[in-house]
Amino acid sequence: DVCVLGSFMKDLVTQAPRRPRPGETIRGRAFDEYLGGKGFNQAIAARRAGARTAMIGRVGDDRHGAEFLAMLAEEGVDAAYVRRDSGWGTGVGLPVVEPDGSNSIIIVPRANDAVTADDVLAAAPVIQRSRVLLVQLEVPLPAVLTALHLARSANVLTVLNPAPSAPLPEDISALVDVVVPNEVEAESLTGLPCHGDAVLGTAPTLRRRLARRGAIITLGGRGVVVVDRPGDDEVPPEAVDAYAGWRTSVLNPLAVDTIDTVGAGDAFCGALAARIAAGDGLLSAAEYANAAGALATTRRGTAPAMPRADEIGALLTR
Ligand code: ADP
Repeated sequence: DVCVLGSFMKDLVTQAPRRPRPGETIRGRAFDEYLGGKGFNQAIAARRAGARTAMIGRVGDDRHGAEFLAMLAEEGVDAAYVRRDSGWGTGVGLPVVEPDGSNSIIIVPRANDAVTADDVLAAAPVIQRSRVLLVQLEVPLPAVLTALHLARSANVLTVLNPAPSAPLPEDISALVDVVVPNEVEAESLTGLPCHGDAVLGTAPTLRRRLARRGAIITLGGRGVVVVDRPGDDEVPPEAVDAYAGWRTSVLNPLAVDTIDTVGAGDAFCGALAARIAAGDGLLSAAEYANAAGALATTRRGTAPAMPRADEIGALLTR
């Protein structure tokens, strides 16, 4: 089982010829609403990749919140610990997309910012019965750290997608088994470059600073770098830093017809957590997630674009 602590963001997207200037009103060309938020997208991705999945977080007591709860129910994600917060609205994102595809986004986290350590403590049973806890940084850090502590003391594997990037406590590596940033986040976490071959030097440093069992840097259309150690389970935690068997692997991107890369990282993280929960080693879970990320780029939208286990399997055996 996978437990996801994270965000819900309703994206209200306008297409416009350009951004308005101060005091100006302009006409947009199109408007769409999407259910999103890194936590929600990753929960849907984990579920569709075959894991029993539960989510912890907050939505508002409004129509957006109702839509999120309906989709969680439809997909079969356990939402017993998703609170409907009457004091705040559901989190929203307001992107303006210009004709060249570039976007400018305002996000208002609202109910996501109200997630507390107490919410997480109340959800302790669902964390403790999971194989994997998956977290991002779109809800407040005290809630995230509480979830990581609870998981660690119950021997639940922890996966941190450090997005959006934010300062983390020095001792975070004691709480995180696997860290999964994209290139931009990896650079800001380590202060080291990720362009070209430089990422091969950065990934082991990222692992050493942030996580006990492995680090994965997603490189968009360039694929994935994985730092792991074969025979992982034989190494006791206190011996990890002296362990010499770390290896760095590169996974090439799968060739697909990419039309929209939004949500690829979320598809990757959700599928990765699902395969770790199913007992895969980190490298084979990453190979599976690499296919899930690729498939997500072949569709528009975020949560609805998350691929299912049968499609991922078909791409891998193509
Ligand atoms: P994020 O959305 O967090 O920035 P990335 O853009 O790094 O994440 O994408 C996550 C993963 O999705 C990549 O590591 C890769 O596995 C897959 N992916 C992304 N873009 C492509 C692409 N154009 N072709 C094939 N796979 C892709």
